[in-house]
Amino acid sequence: MTELSWQTRSRALKRMADEIFDLLIIGGGITGAGLALDGSARGLRVALVEKRDFAAGTSSRSTKLIHGGLRYLEHYDFALVREGLRERALLVKLAPHLVEPFPFVVPVYEQSRRNYDRPLKMRAGMILYDLLAGKYNLGRHRRLNRAEALQLAPQLDPRGLKGAFVYYDCLTDDARLVIEVLKSAHECGAVPASYARATGFLRDEAGRIAGAHLRDELTGDEISARARLVINATGVWMEETLSLSSAAGNGAAKSVRPSKGIHLTVPADRLRVNAAWLIPSLTGHRFYFVVPWQGRVNIGTTDTDYQGDKNAPRAEADEVREILGAINSYFPDAQLDSSDVITSWAGLRPLISDPMIQSTTAISRKEELLESDNGLISLAGGKLTTYRLMAERGIDLAARRLRERFGINTSGQRTSDIPVGGAPERHEIEPAAQRLAQSEGFTPETAHHLVTAYGTEAARIAEIAREDVRLRAHLVNGLPHLAAEVVYAARYEMALTLADVLARRTRLLMLAGKAAVECAPMVAELMAGELRWDEREVKRQIAQLTDEYEREYATPHAD
Ligand code: FAD
Repeated sequence: MTELSWQTRSRALKRMADEIFDLLIIGGGITGAGLALDGSARGLRVALVEKRDFAAGTSSRSTKLIHGGLRYLEHYDFALVREGLRERALLVKLAPHLVEPFPFVVPVYEQSRRNYDRPLKMRAGMILYDLLAGKYNLGRHRRLNRAEALQLAPQLDPRGLKGAFVYYDCLTDDARLVIEVLKSAHECGAVPASYARATGFLRDEAGRIAGAHLRDELTGDEISARARLVINATGVWMEETLSLSSAAGNGAAKSVRPSKGIHLTVPADRLRVNAAWLIPSLTGHRFYFVVPWQGRVNIGTTDTDYQGDKNAPRAEADEVREILGAINSYFPDAQLDSSDVITSWAGLRPLISDPMIQSTTAISRKEELLESDNGLISLAGGKLTTYRLMAERGIDLAARRLRERFGINTSGQRTSDIPVGGAPERHEIEPAAQRLAQSEGFTPETAHHLVTAYGTEAARIAEIAREDVRLRAHLVNGLPHLAAEVVYAARYEMALTLADVLARRTRLLMLAGKAAVECAPMVAELMAGELRWDEREVKRQIAQLTDEYEREYATPHAD
Protein backbone atom coordinates (compact mmCIF):
# COMPACT_ATOMS: atom_id res chain seq x y z
CA MET A 1 0.00 0.00 0.00
CA THR A 2 1.20 3.49 -0.73
CA GLU A 3 1.30 6.31 1.81
CA LEU A 4 -2.08 7.80 2.78
CA SER A 5 -1.13 10.43 5.33
CA TRP A 6 -1.82 14.07 6.17
CA GLN A 7 0.69 15.00 3.48
CA THR A 8 -1.24 12.88 0.96
CA ARG A 9 -4.35 14.80 1.98
CA SER A 10 -2.66 18.19 1.45
CA ARG A 11 -1.54 17.07 -2.00
CA ALA A 12 -5.04 15.74 -2.74
CA LEU A 13 -6.67 19.08 -1.90
CA LYS A 14 -4.11 20.91 -4.03
CA ARG A 15 -4.86 18.59 -6.93
CA MET A 16 -8.59 19.16 -6.46
CA ALA A 17 -7.96 22.90 -6.73
CA ASP A 18 -5.72 22.58 -9.82
CA GLU A 19 -7.06 19.72 -11.94
CA ILE A 20 -10.33 18.67 -13.53
CA PHE A 21 -11.50 15.27 -12.37
CA ASP A 22 -13.94 13.01 -14.21
CA LEU A 23 -15.80 12.31 -10.99
CA LEU A 24 -16.06 14.10 -7.68
CA ILE A 25 -17.68 11.95 -5.01
CA ILE A 26 -19.12 13.66 -1.96
CA GLY A 27 -19.28 11.39 1.10
CA GLY A 28 -16.71 9.00 2.52
CA GLY A 29 -18.92 6.25 3.92
CA ILE A 30 -19.10 2.78 2.35
CA THR A 31 -21.16 4.12 -0.59
CA GLY A 32 -18.61 6.82 -1.48
CA ALA A 33 -15.66 4.47 -0.93
CA GLY A 34 -17.28 1.83 -3.18
CA LEU A 35 -17.90 4.42 -5.90
CA ALA A 36 -14.30 5.67 -5.68
CA LEU A 37 -12.96 2.13 -6.11
CA ASP A 38 -15.28 1.26 -8.98
CA GLY A 39 -14.69 4.54 -10.82
CA SER A 40 -10.91 4.51 -10.48
CA ALA A 41 -10.70 0.81 -11.39
CA ARG A 42 -12.45 1.68 -14.67
CA GLY A 43 -9.74 4.21 -15.40
CA LEU A 44 -11.64 7.36 -14.39
CA ARG A 45 -9.96 10.24 -12.60
CA VAL A 46 -11.76 10.24 -9.25
CA ALA A 47 -11.66 12.61 -6.27
CA LEU A 48 -13.57 11.96 -3.02
CA VAL A 49 -14.30 14.37 -0.18
CA GLU A 50 -15.65 13.60 3.30
CA LYS A 51 -16.66 16.32 5.74
CA ARG A 52 -15.54 14.40 8.84
CA ASP A 53 -13.48 11.23 8.95
CA PHE A 54 -14.07 8.35 6.53
CA ALA A 55 -16.87 6.13 7.93
CA ALA A 56 -17.73 8.66 10.63
CA GLY A 57 -21.41 8.60 9.56
CA THR A 58 -23.62 5.50 9.43
CA SER A 59 -20.86 3.26 8.10
CA SER A 60 -19.17 2.84 11.51
CA ARG A 61 -22.43 2.25 13.42
CA SER A 62 -24.03 -0.77 11.75
CA THR A 63 -24.71 -4.22 13.24
CA LYS A 64 -21.64 -5.30 11.21
CA LEU A 65 -23.37 -8.13 9.35
CA ILE A 66 -22.66 -9.01 5.76
CA HIS A 67 -25.93 -10.73 5.07
CA GLY A 68 -28.79 -11.39 2.71
CA GLY A 69 -31.20 -10.26 5.42
CA LEU A 70 -33.34 -13.16 6.67
CA ARG A 71 -35.81 -10.58 8.01
CA TYR A 72 -36.49 -9.03 4.60
CA LEU A 73 -38.14 -12.30 3.55
CA GLU A 74 -41.11 -11.19 5.67
CA HIS A 75 -41.62 -8.38 3.15
CA TYR A 76 -41.25 -10.79 0.19
CA ASP A 77 -38.13 -8.85 -0.91
CA PHE A 78 -36.68 -12.01 -2.52
CA ALA A 79 -34.62 -10.23 -5.19
CA LEU A 80 -33.04 -8.01 -2.53
CA VAL A 81 -32.18 -11.00 -0.35
CA ARG A 82 -30.70 -12.94 -3.28
CA GLU A 83 -28.62 -9.92 -4.24
CA GLY A 84 -27.32 -9.61 -0.66
CA LEU A 85 -26.46 -13.31 -0.54
CA ARG A 86 -24.46 -13.07 -3.79
CA GLU A 87 -22.56 -10.02 -2.59
CA ARG A 88 -21.92 -11.80 0.70
CA ALA A 89 -20.25 -14.68 -1.19
CA LEU A 90 -18.18 -12.24 -3.26
CA LEU A 91 -16.99 -10.38 -0.15
CA VAL A 92 -16.01 -13.64 1.54
CA LYS A 93 -13.68 -14.06 -1.45
CA LEU A 94 -12.54 -10.44 -1.94
CA ALA A 95 -12.11 -9.45 1.72
CA PRO A 96 -11.62 -12.73 3.62
CA HIS A 97 -9.71 -10.96 6.41
CA LEU A 98 -12.70 -8.71 7.12
CA VAL A 99 -15.69 -10.88 6.26
CA GLU A 100 -16.04 -13.97 8.40
CA PRO A 101 -18.75 -16.63 7.95
CA PHE A 102 -20.47 -17.09 11.30
CA PRO A 103 -23.30 -19.16 12.82
CA PHE A 104 -26.52 -17.32 13.73
CA VAL A 105 -28.91 -19.04 16.15
CA VAL A 106 -32.61 -18.60 16.90
CA PRO A 107 -33.95 -20.27 20.08
CA VAL A 108 -37.18 -22.30 19.96
CA TYR A 109 -39.40 -22.49 23.05
CA GLU A 110 -42.60 -24.32 23.85
CA GLN A 111 -45.42 -22.11 22.58
CA SER A 112 -46.86 -21.61 26.05
CA ARG A 113 -43.65 -20.11 27.43
CA ARG A 114 -42.70 -17.73 24.65
CA ASN A 115 -45.80 -17.08 22.63
CA TYR A 116 -44.05 -14.56 20.43
CA ASP A 117 -41.92 -17.27 18.86
CA ARG A 118 -42.85 -18.40 15.40
CA PRO A 119 -40.73 -21.51 14.82
CA LEU A 120 -42.57 -22.71 11.73
CA LYS A 121 -42.34 -19.37 10.02
CA MET A 122 -38.70 -19.11 11.03
CA ARG A 123 -37.94 -22.58 9.64
CA ALA A 124 -39.70 -21.73 6.36
CA GLY A 125 -37.65 -18.52 6.18
CA MET A 126 -34.40 -20.43 6.64
CA ILE A 127 -35.30 -23.00 3.97
CA LEU A 128 -36.01 -20.13 1.59
CA TYR A 129 -32.77 -18.35 2.63
CA ASP A 130 -30.80 -21.50 1.74
CA LEU A 131 -32.63 -21.82 -1.57
CA LEU A 132 -32.06 -18.19 -2.50
CA ALA A 133 -28.35 -18.51 -1.66
CA GLY A 134 -28.08 -21.56 -3.95
CA LYS A 135 -24.46 -22.19 -4.86
CA TYR A 136 -23.44 -19.13 -2.83
CA ASN A 137 -24.60 -20.70 0.45
CA LEU A 138 -22.15 -20.76 3.37
CA GLY A 139 -23.81 -23.78 5.00
CA ARG A 140 -27.36 -25.12 5.23
CA HIS A 141 -29.45 -24.22 8.25
CA ARG A 142 -30.13 -27.00 10.75
CA ARG A 143 -31.98 -27.76 13.95
CA LEU A 144 -30.10 -27.95 17.25
CA ASN A 145 -31.38 -29.90 20.22
CA ARG A 146 -31.75 -28.31 23.64
CA ALA A 147 -28.29 -29.35 24.90
CA GLU A 148 -26.58 -28.10 21.74
CA ALA A 149 -28.41 -24.78 22.04
CA LEU A 150 -27.34 -24.37 25.66
CA GLN A 151 -23.76 -25.12 24.73
CA LEU A 152 -23.83 -22.09 22.44
CA ALA A 153 -25.38 -19.89 25.14
CA PRO A 154 -25.02 -21.30 28.68
CA GLN A 155 -26.99 -18.40 30.21
CA LEU A 156 -30.02 -18.90 27.94
CA ASP A 157 -33.28 -19.55 29.83
CA PRO A 158 -33.59 -23.38 29.82
CA ARG A 159 -37.25 -23.38 30.93
CA GLY A 160 -39.41 -24.55 28.02
CA LEU A 161 -36.44 -24.47 25.65
CA LYS A 162 -36.92 -27.06 22.91
CA GLY A 163 -33.85 -26.34 20.83
CA ALA A 164 -32.78 -23.82 18.22
CA PHE A 165 -32.20 -23.26 14.53
CA VAL A 166 -28.80 -22.30 13.23
CA TYR A 167 -28.06 -20.65 9.88
CA TYR A 168 -25.03 -18.85 8.44
CA ASP A 169 -24.21 -15.25 7.58
CA CYS A 170 -21.07 -13.14 7.99
CA LEU A 171 -19.57 -10.63 10.42
CA THR A 172 -17.37 -7.71 9.50
CA ASP A 173 -15.80 -4.54 10.87
CA ASP A 174 -17.74 -1.82 9.04
CA ALA A 175 -15.36 1.14 9.49
CA ARG A 176 -12.36 -0.98 8.56
CA LEU A 177 -14.20 -2.22 5.49
CA VAL A 178 -14.64 1.41 4.43
CA ILE A 179 -10.99 2.29 4.94
CA GLU A 180 -9.78 -0.88 3.19
CA VAL A 181 -12.04 -0.19 0.18
CA LEU A 182 -10.76 3.37 0.12
CA LYS A 183 -7.14 2.19 0.28
CA SER A 184 -7.83 -0.01 -2.77
CA ALA A 185 -9.40 2.97 -4.52
CA HIS A 186 -6.31 5.03 -3.73
CA GLU A 187 -4.12 2.26 -5.16
CA CYS A 188 -6.19 2.51 -8.36
CA GLY A 189 -5.52 6.26 -8.52
CA ALA A 190 -8.45 7.81 -6.62
CA VAL A 191 -7.66 10.98 -4.68
CA PRO A 192 -9.42 11.09 -1.28
CA ALA A 193 -9.51 13.84 1.34
CA SER A 194 -11.19 13.69 4.73
CA TYR A 195 -12.30 16.80 6.68
CA ALA A 196 -13.21 18.45 3.37
CA ARG A 197 -16.84 19.55 3.24
CA ALA A 198 -18.79 20.29 0.08
CA THR A 199 -20.49 23.63 0.73
CA GLY A 200 -21.92 24.40 -2.71
CA PHE A 201 -21.68 23.55 -6.39
CA LEU A 202 -19.89 24.95 -9.42
CA ARG A 203 -21.85 25.19 -12.66
CA ASP A 204 -21.00 25.37 -16.33
CA GLU A 205 -22.57 27.86 -18.77
CA ALA A 206 -25.52 25.53 -19.31
CA GLY A 207 -26.20 25.47 -15.58
CA ARG A 208 -24.96 21.91 -15.15
CA ILE A 209 -23.07 20.91 -12.02
CA ALA A 210 -19.36 21.08 -12.84
CA GLY A 211 -17.71 20.60 -9.45
CA ALA A 212 -18.07 21.73 -5.87
CA HIS A 213 -16.95 24.39 -3.44
CA LEU A 214 -15.05 22.71 -0.62
CA ARG A 215 -14.10 23.87 2.83
CA ASP A 216 -11.01 22.39 4.44
CA GLU A 217 -12.42 21.71 7.91
CA LEU A 218 -8.95 21.71 9.44
CA THR A 219 -7.68 25.05 8.10
CA GLY A 220 -10.85 26.83 7.00
CA ASP A 221 -9.44 27.22 3.46
CA GLU A 222 -11.93 27.32 0.60
CA ILE A 223 -11.30 25.37 -2.61
CA SER A 224 -13.15 25.09 -5.91
CA ALA A 225 -12.89 21.53 -7.18
CA ARG A 226 -13.79 21.04 -10.83
CA ALA A 227 -15.23 17.76 -12.10
CA ARG A 228 -17.17 16.60 -15.13
CA LEU A 229 -19.66 14.76 -12.93
CA VAL A 230 -20.46 14.94 -9.23
CA ILE A 231 -21.95 12.07 -7.24
CA ASN A 232 -23.74 12.72 -3.98
CA ALA A 233 -23.07 9.76 -1.64
CA THR A 234 -23.92 11.53 1.59
CA GLY A 235 -26.35 8.97 3.06
CA VAL A 236 -28.77 10.57 5.51
CA TRP A 237 -27.44 13.98 4.38
CA MET A 238 -28.54 13.34 0.79
CA GLU A 239 -31.21 16.04 0.82
CA GLU A 240 -28.98 18.66 2.46
CA THR A 241 -26.46 18.02 -0.32
CA LEU A 242 -29.18 18.20 -2.96
CA SER A 243 -30.35 21.49 -1.52
CA LEU A 244 -26.83 22.95 -2.02
CA SER A 245 -27.50 22.55 -5.74
CA SER A 246 -31.09 23.78 -5.48
CA ALA A 247 -31.94 20.33 -6.77
CA ALA A 248 -34.08 19.18 -3.88
CA GLY A 249 -37.25 17.83 -5.38
CA ASN A 250 -35.74 18.11 -8.84
CA GLY A 251 -35.44 14.63 -10.28
CA ALA A 252 -35.44 13.45 -6.71
CA ALA A 253 -39.06 13.04 -5.72
CA LYS A 254 -38.06 10.52 -3.09
CA SER A 255 -36.43 11.65 0.12
CA VAL A 256 -34.34 10.12 2.88
CA ARG A 257 -36.19 9.06 5.99
CA PRO A 258 -33.56 8.49 8.69
CA SER A 259 -34.23 5.51 10.91
CA LYS A 260 -32.24 5.26 14.11
CA GLY A 261 -30.74 2.04 15.40
CA ILE A 262 -28.82 1.69 18.65
CA HIS A 263 -26.39 -0.94 19.90
CA LEU A 264 -24.90 -1.81 23.28
CA THR A 265 -21.40 -3.23 23.73
CA VAL A 266 -20.97 -5.46 26.80
CA PRO A 267 -18.10 -7.61 28.14
CA ALA A 268 -17.99 -11.13 26.70
CA ASP A 269 -17.92 -12.68 30.19
CA ARG A 270 -21.22 -10.98 31.13
CA LEU A 271 -23.15 -12.42 28.17
CA ARG A 272 -21.57 -15.73 27.23
CA VAL A 273 -22.42 -16.69 23.65
CA ASN A 274 -20.48 -18.87 21.23
CA ALA A 275 -22.49 -17.85 18.17
CA ALA A 276 -24.56 -14.84 17.13
CA TRP A 277 -28.10 -15.08 18.54
CA LEU A 278 -31.38 -13.60 17.37
CA ILE A 279 -33.49 -12.67 20.37
CA PRO A 280 -37.08 -11.42 19.99
CA SER A 281 -37.86 -8.00 21.42
CA LEU A 282 -40.36 -7.84 24.30
CA THR A 283 -43.13 -6.87 21.89
CA GLY A 284 -42.11 -9.70 19.56
CA HIS A 285 -42.11 -7.37 16.57
CA ARG A 286 -38.40 -7.57 15.87
CA PHE A 287 -35.23 -9.45 16.71
CA TYR A 288 -32.16 -8.14 18.47
CA PHE A 289 -28.84 -9.55 17.32
CA VAL A 290 -26.47 -10.64 20.08
CA VAL A 291 -23.11 -10.75 18.32
CA PRO A 292 -19.69 -11.76 19.67
CA TRP A 293 -17.35 -9.15 18.18
CA GLN A 294 -13.68 -8.45 18.78
CA GLY A 295 -13.68 -9.83 22.32
CA ARG A 296 -16.96 -8.12 23.29
CA VAL A 297 -20.64 -8.71 22.61
CA ASN A 298 -22.70 -6.21 20.60
CA ILE A 299 -26.46 -6.16 21.10
CA GLY A 300 -28.87 -4.38 18.79
CA THR A 301 -30.59 -2.91 17.03
CA THR A 302 -33.69 -0.74 17.16
CA ASP A 303 -35.45 0.79 14.15
CA THR A 304 -37.22 4.06 14.87
CA ASP A 305 -38.07 7.17 12.88
CA TYR A 306 -35.54 9.93 13.66
CA GLN A 307 -35.89 13.67 13.46
CA GLY A 308 -33.04 14.85 15.71
CA ASP A 309 -29.54 16.13 14.91
CA LYS A 310 -28.09 13.84 12.22
CA ASN A 311 -24.56 14.66 13.31
CA ALA A 312 -24.97 13.30 16.82
CA PRO A 313 -27.48 10.46 17.13
CA ARG A 314 -27.14 8.72 20.49
CA ALA A 315 -28.70 5.90 22.46
CA GLU A 316 -31.32 7.15 24.93
CA ALA A 317 -31.91 5.66 28.38
CA ASP A 318 -35.31 4.17 27.48
CA GLU A 319 -33.83 2.47 24.39
CA VAL A 320 -31.02 0.95 26.46
CA ARG A 321 -33.56 -0.20 29.04
CA GLU A 322 -35.74 -1.81 26.36
CA ILE A 323 -32.86 -3.84 24.92
CA LEU A 324 -31.58 -4.91 28.35
CA GLY A 325 -35.13 -5.98 29.29
CA ALA A 326 -35.43 -8.26 26.26
CA ILE A 327 -31.95 -9.73 26.75
CA ASN A 328 -32.50 -10.37 30.47
CA SER A 329 -35.77 -12.09 29.74
CA TYR A 330 -33.95 -14.62 27.51
CA PHE A 331 -30.69 -14.72 29.48
CA PRO A 332 -31.98 -14.52 33.09
CA ASP A 333 -28.62 -15.63 34.50
CA ALA A 334 -26.87 -12.68 32.90
CA GLN A 335 -29.04 -9.99 34.54
CA LEU A 336 -27.34 -7.20 32.68
CA ASP A 337 -27.82 -3.65 33.88
CA SER A 338 -26.58 -0.36 32.50
CA SER A 339 -23.36 -0.62 34.53
CA ASP A 340 -22.43 -3.63 32.35
CA VAL A 341 -22.73 -1.58 29.18
CA ILE A 342 -19.26 -0.47 28.07
CA THR A 343 -20.60 1.76 25.33
CA SER A 344 -23.88 2.44 23.59
CA TRP A 345 -23.98 3.95 20.15
CA ALA A 346 -26.47 4.92 17.50
CA GLY A 347 -26.57 5.07 13.70
CA LEU A 348 -29.01 6.40 11.14
CA ARG A 349 -30.21 4.28 8.22
CA PRO A 350 -30.54 6.31 5.06
CA LEU A 351 -33.87 4.74 4.10
CA ILE A 352 -35.48 6.08 0.97
CA SER A 353 -38.91 7.17 2.00
CA ASP A 354 -42.11 6.07 0.40
CA PRO A 355 -44.85 8.38 1.73
CA MET A 356 -47.32 5.46 1.68
CA ILE A 357 -45.33 3.44 4.22
CA GLN A 358 -45.88 4.15 7.90
CA SER A 359 -43.17 2.11 9.64
CA THR A 360 -39.44 2.37 8.88
CA THR A 361 -39.10 -1.41 9.44
CA ALA A 362 -41.21 -1.95 6.33
CA ILE A 363 -39.16 0.34 4.06
CA SER A 364 -37.09 -1.61 1.55
CA ARG A 365 -33.31 -1.65 2.00
CA LYS A 366 -32.87 -1.33 -1.75
CA GLU A 367 -30.71 1.56 -2.91
CA GLU A 368 -31.92 4.51 -4.97
CA LEU A 369 -29.92 6.02 -7.81
CA LEU A 370 -31.28 9.46 -8.66
CA GLU A 371 -30.31 11.89 -11.38
CA SER A 372 -31.18 15.57 -11.07
CA ASP A 373 -31.84 17.75 -14.12
CA ASN A 374 -28.61 19.66 -13.40
CA GLY A 375 -26.60 16.45 -13.79
CA LEU A 376 -25.99 15.66 -10.13
CA ILE A 377 -26.18 11.92 -9.44
CA SER A 378 -27.22 10.77 -5.95
CA LEU A 379 -26.82 7.25 -4.57
CA ALA A 380 -28.28 6.35 -1.17
CA GLY A 381 -30.10 3.64 0.75
CA GLY A 382 -29.07 0.02 0.40
CA LYS A 383 -26.85 -1.78 2.88
CA LEU A 384 -23.23 -2.15 3.79
CA THR A 385 -23.43 -5.66 2.29
CA THR A 386 -24.38 -4.49 -1.19
CA TYR A 387 -22.03 -1.50 -1.44
CA ARG A 388 -20.05 -3.03 -4.33
CA LEU A 389 -23.10 -3.66 -6.45
CA MET A 390 -24.56 -0.22 -5.63
CA ALA A 391 -21.29 1.39 -6.68
CA GLU A 392 -21.23 -0.64 -9.90
CA ARG A 393 -24.70 0.64 -10.79
CA GLY A 394 -23.76 4.20 -9.86
CA ILE A 395 -20.60 4.14 -11.99
CA ASP A 396 -22.45 2.46 -14.89
CA LEU A 397 -24.70 5.53 -15.00
CA ALA A 398 -21.82 7.97 -14.52
CA ALA A 399 -19.79 6.23 -17.27
CA ARG A 400 -22.75 6.49 -19.65
CA ARG A 401 -23.07 10.23 -19.00
CA LEU A 402 -19.30 10.80 -19.33
CA ARG A 403 -19.35 9.04 -22.69
CA GLU A 404 -22.41 10.91 -23.96
CA ARG A 405 -21.33 14.38 -22.83
CA PHE A 406 -17.55 14.28 -22.92
CA GLY A 407 -16.68 11.32 -25.15
CA ILE A 408 -14.81 9.70 -22.24
CA ASN A 409 -14.60 5.94 -22.45
CA THR A 410 -14.05 3.74 -19.43
CA SER A 411 -11.90 0.66 -19.33
CA GLY A 412 -10.22 -1.33 -16.65
CA GLN A 413 -11.17 -3.90 -14.14
CA ARG A 414 -14.50 -4.68 -12.53
CA THR A 415 -14.63 -4.64 -8.73
CA SER A 416 -15.90 -8.24 -8.65
CA ASP A 417 -12.25 -9.16 -9.38
CA ILE A 418 -10.44 -6.69 -7.12
CA PRO A 419 -9.38 -7.84 -3.63
CA VAL A 420 -10.28 -5.35 -0.90
CA GLY A 421 -7.33 -3.66 0.85
CA GLY A 422 -4.61 -6.01 1.93
CA ALA A 423 -6.75 -9.11 1.39
CA PRO A 424 -4.87 -12.38 1.89
CA GLU A 425 -6.22 -15.74 0.70
CA ARG A 426 -8.65 -17.09 3.30
CA HIS A 427 -6.56 -20.21 3.88
CA GLU A 428 -3.54 -17.95 4.53
CA ILE A 429 -5.10 -16.06 7.47
CA GLU A 430 -4.30 -18.50 10.31
CA PRO A 431 -0.82 -19.50 9.04
CA ALA A 432 0.04 -15.80 8.54
CA ALA A 433 -1.08 -15.03 12.11
CA GLN A 434 1.00 -17.93 13.44
CA ARG A 435 4.07 -16.82 11.52
CA LEU A 436 3.63 -13.26 12.78
CA ALA A 437 3.30 -14.42 16.38
CA GLN A 438 6.42 -16.54 16.04
CA SER A 439 8.64 -14.10 14.19
CA GLU A 440 7.66 -10.97 16.14
CA GLY A 441 6.87 -12.45 19.54
CA PHE A 442 3.31 -11.05 19.46
CA THR A 443 0.62 -12.83 21.46
CA PRO A 444 -1.59 -15.11 19.31
CA GLU A 445 -4.49 -12.66 19.93
CA THR A 446 -2.49 -9.69 18.65
CA ALA A 447 -1.22 -11.59 15.61
CA HIS A 448 -4.75 -12.75 14.77
CA HIS A 449 -6.13 -9.25 15.27
CA LEU A 450 -3.49 -7.70 13.00
CA VAL A 451 -4.05 -10.16 10.18
CA THR A 452 -7.85 -9.94 10.31
CA ALA A 453 -7.91 -6.14 10.58
CA TYR A 454 -5.15 -5.29 8.08
CA GLY A 455 -4.62 -8.42 5.97
CA THR A 456 -1.19 -8.50 4.36
CA GLU A 457 -0.49 -5.04 5.79
CA ALA A 458 -0.05 -6.71 9.20
CA ALA A 459 3.57 -7.21 8.09
CA ARG A 460 4.01 -3.45 7.75
CA ILE A 461 2.64 -2.91 11.27
CA ALA A 462 5.17 -5.46 12.52
CA GLU A 463 7.86 -3.48 10.69
CA ILE A 464 6.70 -0.27 12.41
CA ALA A 465 6.67 -2.06 15.77
CA ARG A 466 10.35 -2.85 15.24
CA GLU A 467 11.17 0.89 15.04
CA ASP A 468 10.78 1.41 18.78
CA VAL A 469 10.00 -0.92 21.65
CA ARG A 470 7.25 1.47 22.83
CA LEU A 471 5.33 0.69 19.65
CA ARG A 472 4.93 -2.90 20.86
CA ALA A 473 2.87 -1.74 23.84
CA HIS A 474 -0.83 -2.58 24.02
CA LEU A 475 -3.11 0.46 23.86
CA VAL A 476 -5.74 -0.89 26.25
CA ASN A 477 -5.23 -3.62 28.84
CA GLY A 478 -6.71 -6.93 27.78
CA LEU A 479 -7.20 -5.95 24.13
CA PRO A 480 -4.77 -6.94 21.35
CA HIS A 481 -4.29 -3.55 19.68
CA LEU A 482 -0.71 -2.25 19.49
CA ALA A 483 0.70 1.28 19.64
CA ALA A 484 2.24 0.60 16.19
CA GLU A 485 -1.29 0.70 14.74
CA VAL A 486 -1.53 4.38 15.63
CA VAL A 487 1.54 5.15 13.55
CA TYR A 488 0.27 2.97 10.70
CA ALA A 489 -3.12 4.74 10.78
CA ALA A 490 -1.41 8.14 10.50
CA ARG A 491 0.92 7.07 7.67
CA TYR A 492 -1.24 4.71 5.61
CA GLU A 493 -4.90 5.37 6.54
CA MET A 494 -5.16 9.17 6.70
CA ALA A 495 -5.99 9.25 10.43
CA LEU A 496 -5.88 12.94 11.36
CA THR A 497 -7.40 13.05 14.84
CA LEU A 498 -7.37 10.94 17.99
CA ALA A 499 -10.94 9.86 17.31
CA ASP A 500 -10.03 8.75 13.79
CA VAL A 501 -7.58 6.29 15.34
CA LEU A 502 -9.56 5.27 18.41
CA ALA A 503 -13.09 5.17 16.99
CA ARG A 504 -12.61 4.03 13.42
CA ARG A 505 -9.11 2.68 12.47
CA THR A 506 -9.04 0.65 15.67
CA ARG A 507 -12.48 0.30 17.23
CA LEU A 508 -11.23 0.92 20.75
CA LEU A 509 -13.67 3.72 21.60
CA MET A 510 -16.55 1.30 20.92
CA LEU A 511 -14.85 -1.73 22.49
CA ALA A 512 -13.35 -0.12 25.58
CA GLY A 513 -15.16 3.21 26.13
CA LYS A 514 -13.56 5.04 29.05
CA ALA A 515 -10.45 2.85 28.93
CA ALA A 516 -9.89 4.03 25.36
CA VAL A 517 -10.23 7.65 26.47
CA GLU A 518 -7.67 6.92 29.18
CA CYS A 519 -5.10 5.80 26.58
CA ALA A 520 -5.58 9.08 24.67
CA PRO A 521 -2.40 10.77 26.03
CA MET A 522 -0.26 7.86 24.81
CA VAL A 523 -1.98 7.86 21.40
CA ALA A 524 -1.70 11.65 21.21
CA GLU A 525 2.04 11.47 21.81
CA LEU A 526 2.43 9.06 18.90
CA MET A 527 0.16 11.11 16.64
CA ALA A 528 2.04 14.28 17.61
CA GLY A 529 5.24 12.71 16.25
CA GLU A 530 3.55 11.89 12.94
CA LEU A 531 1.39 15.00 12.48
CA ARG A 532 3.67 17.56 14.15
CA TRP A 533 1.18 18.51 16.87
CA ASP A 534 2.38 20.94 19.53
CA GLU A 535 1.33 20.72 23.17
CA ARG A 536 -1.73 22.90 22.64
CA GLU A 537 -2.94 20.70 19.78
CA VAL A 538 -2.43 17.59 21.90
CA LYS A 539 -4.63 19.07 24.63
CA ARG A 540 -7.26 20.11 22.07
CA GLN A 541 -7.29 16.63 20.56
CA ILE A 542 -7.74 14.94 23.94
CA ALA A 543 -10.61 17.30 24.81
CA GLN A 544 -12.22 16.63 21.43
CA LEU A 545 -11.94 12.87 21.88
CA THR A 546 -13.44 13.04 25.37
CA ASP A 547 -16.28 15.08 23.94
CA GLU A 548 -16.89 12.56 21.11
CA TYR A 549 -16.94 9.75 23.67
CA GLU A 550 -19.46 11.59 25.89
CA ARG A 551 -21.69 12.51 22.95
CA GLU A 552 -21.60 9.32 20.91
CA TYR A 553 -20.57 6.36 23.07
CA ALA A 554 -21.19 7.01 26.79
CA THR A 555 -24.12 5.04 28.16
CA PRO A 556 -27.03 7.01 29.55
CA HIS A 557 -28.04 5.80 33.00
CA ALA A 558 -30.88 3.40 32.25
CA ASP A 559 -31.77 1.79 35.61
P1 FAD B 1 -22.66 7.17 5.50
O1 FAD B 1 -21.80 6.11 6.05
O2 FAD B 1 -23.46 7.96 6.46
O3 FAD B 1 -21.73 8.12 4.65
C1 FAD B 1 -22.14 9.39 4.19
C2 FAD B 1 -20.99 10.35 4.45
O4 FAD B 1 -21.24 11.60 3.82
C3 FAD B 1 -20.81 10.67 5.94
O5 FAD B 1 -19.56 10.17 6.37
C4 FAD B 1 -20.90 12.19 6.02
O6 FAD B 1 -20.02 12.75 6.95
C5 FAD B 1 -20.57 12.59 4.58
N1 FAD B 1 -21.10 13.90 4.21
C6 FAD B 1 -22.34 14.39 4.44
N2 FAD B 1 -22.45 15.65 3.94
C7 FAD B 1 -21.25 15.95 3.37
C8 FAD B 1 -20.74 17.11 2.71
N3 FAD B 1 -21.50 18.21 2.53
N4 FAD B 1 -19.46 17.10 2.27
C9 FAD B 1 -18.67 16.00 2.46
N5 FAD B 1 -19.11 14.87 3.09
C10 FAD B 1 -20.39 14.85 3.53
N6 FAD B 1 -26.03 -2.83 6.55
C11 FAD B 1 -25.58 -4.09 6.43
O7 FAD B 1 -25.29 -4.54 5.31
N7 FAD B 1 -25.42 -4.89 7.51
C12 FAD B 1 -25.75 -4.50 8.75
O8 FAD B 1 -25.57 -5.24 9.72
C13 FAD B 1 -26.29 -3.20 8.91
N8 FAD B 1 -26.68 -2.79 10.13
C14 FAD B 1 -27.12 -1.52 10.30
C15 FAD B 1 -27.48 -1.10 11.59
C16 FAD B 1 -27.84 0.21 11.82
C17 FAD B 1 -28.23 0.65 13.20
C18 FAD B 1 -27.82 1.13 10.74
C19 FAD B 1 -28.15 2.55 11.01
C20 FAD B 1 -27.50 0.71 9.45
C21 FAD B 1 -27.15 -0.62 9.22
N9 FAD B 1 -26.82 -1.08 7.94
C22 FAD B 1 -26.38 -2.36 7.76
C23 FAD B 1 -26.89 -0.20 6.78
C24 FAD B 1 -25.54 0.41 6.45
O9 FAD B 1 -24.82 0.71 7.61
C25 FAD B 1 -25.74 1.68 5.61
O10 FAD B 1 -26.57 1.40 4.52
C26 FAD B 1 -24.42 2.25 5.09
O11 FAD B 1 -23.45 2.35 6.11
C27 FAD B 1 -24.66 3.64 4.50
O12 FAD B 1 -23.45 4.12 3.99
P2 FAD B 1 -23.36 5.51 3.26
O13 FAD B 1 -21.98 5.65 2.77
O14 FAD B 1 -24.45 5.63 2.26
O15 FAD B 1 -23.67 6.59 4.40
